[in-house]
Amino acid sequence: MRKTPDTFDPGSLMPVTARPDVVFARGAGAWLWDRQGRRYLDWVQGWAVNCLGHSPAVVVQALCEQARTLINPSPAYYNEPALALAQLLTQHSCMDQVFFASSGAEANEGAIKLARKWGRLHKPGAYEIITFGNGYHGRTLATMSASGKPGWDTMFAPQVPGFPKARWNDLDSVRALVGPHTVAVMLEPVQGEAGVYPADVAFVQGLRALCDEHRLLLIADEVQTGCGRTGTLFAYEQYGAEPDIMTLGKGLGGGVPLSALLAKQACACFEPGEQGGTYSGNPLTCAAGVAVLHSLLADGFLAQVRQGGEQLAQGLQRLSAEFGLGEVRGRGLLLALELGHDRAADVVERARAHGLLLNAPRPHCLRFMPALNSSEEEIDQGLALLREVMETMA
Ligand SMILES: *Cc1c(COP(=O)(O)O)cnc(C)c1O
Repeated sequence: MRKTPDTFDPGSLMPVTARPDVVFARGAGAWLWDRQGRRYLDWVQGWAVNCLGHSPAVVVQALCEQARTLINPSPAYYNEPALALAQLLTQHSCMDQVFFASSGAEANEGAIKLARKWGRLHKPGAYEIITFGNGYHGRTLATMSASGKPGWDTMFAPQVPGFPKARWNDLDSVRALVGPHTVAVMLEPVQGEAGVYPADVAFVQGLRALCDEHRLLLIADEVQTGCGRTGTLFAYEQYGAEPDIMTLGKGLGGGVPLSALLAKQACACFEPGEQGGTYSGNPLTCAAGVAVLHSLLADGFLAQVRQGGEQLAQGLQRLSAEFGLGEVRGRGLLLALELGHDRAADVVERARAHGLLLNAPRPHCLRFMPALNSSEEEIDQGLALLREVMETMA
């Protein structure tokens, strides 16, 4: 018997995450619609991926035009969108060279490989990359091993070796781990999945000095914090310290799978045959990336992100004061609200019933990652919806 596509039977999908019984059918800007036509204000945005909201016109147009022109000539050949995007990224960052991939984890795998290669060339025997407790770098075996999520050390044992864990914002705990095998330190400027914990400026500057002192590479995983999310094009700009290697993902493609590994000249040491991927630098997703970058770099765009972030943070602080909740933290439009209780999942469910999509990275806090081009009115609408939800919790 033929299965009809509109019956709701999720049994054929691997249940890798607990999903609500909603099927989304359409998105536009800050909004999503389900199959029944119900509208939701979306503050998840594909997990901080849709930096310009759902189906933004510039990305749709770039994809349509590129799809008609050239989808994939193979990574063995040059193509125009990849060249253009690599140039945009190097012109607007401290980096010199780019390797494109499809997911954040894949870009981070590349960063790990690049650091190990650099170690082989310049620090024989060094391969360890110091990472952080509660850090998140992706779901491949190496990036899970680099992550500090509780329980991940044994989930698919044995781990990939070489990722000693330091404590977040604790420079001494990093220094204590530096040894003859250390080749790099890798961090998220704001720990996102951990619950939005920004690195202190002094901590990052201390890491930079420590790396210089011991000739280590500093790797910034900007998969979540990059591409305007924290109010500057890249979060490292707010720290007065440049990384040697940086990874991007999420917002870079504006919703399509695109990520990047970037490196300064001095450590861009891959030789032909050491890194690759069938979809690397395909013109379809790179064309989307070019459209995204042009939007982020347009006059006033990042200033508007900072303003929206300020508006949202102030609104959350007002809610926190009114309902006796905890701290508001984050940068730009990557914010978290501490609840002071472990009912974040309940808040997320109630919010969905009120037409607001939220994310709870931990049982005790909510994370907010709206479209970067959210209007003042949309942010007010979201805050009003969240207030209604908090009233039902009281
Ligand atoms: C989301 C994320 C990743 C993983 O990206 P995927 O595209 O899911 O592989 C890696 N690092 C950070 C900081 C992230 O937020």
